[in-house]
Amino acid sequence: MAIRKIRVDGDDVLRKVCKPVDKMTGRIATLIDDMYDTMYEANGVGLAAPQVGILKRIVVIDVCDGEAYTLINPVIVEADGEQVGDEGCLSLPGLIGTVKRPNHVVCKALNENMEEITVEGEGLLARAICHELDHLEGILYKDKTEDGLYSTEAPEEA
Ligand code: ZN
Repeated sequence: MAIRKIRVDGDDVLRKVCKPVDKMTGRIATLIDDMYDTMYEANGVGLAAPQVGILKRIVVIDVCDGEAYTLINPVIVEADGEQVGDEGCLSLPGLIGTVKRPNHVVCKALNENMEEITVEGEGLLARAICHELDHLEGILYKDKTEDGLYSTEAPEEA
């Protein structure tokens, strides 16, 4: 278990398409453990493997709804509804932007035992699934913002 360095915007690794995982190995199991440690330490609700420099189709998500999800080779098979809200990313620290996402998604993936699972998400979980899966395609949320990015810090009073 270890905290890994989170790559930030401008690092080429965030713009690459990730490769599928064909079998579980000790290295991948350690990577997943480290991704959870890194996400929790950074107070994130999700983290994708390329954010720690590994070009594999693995994400971890915990939106504090009582369950954490490890999604390997995830695919969104249903998406409907719409939500417009603020989004941030551990790879773009100190920034947020408004992004339109489906309000409900169904995602098929493999879990850490390489068993097929289906995760259904609404609201924040749907947003997190979409955001993390975008990372696996080299897409950052800033590519999709309605009005660009803005700082999370309060503006200084003159
Ligand atoms: Zn992100």
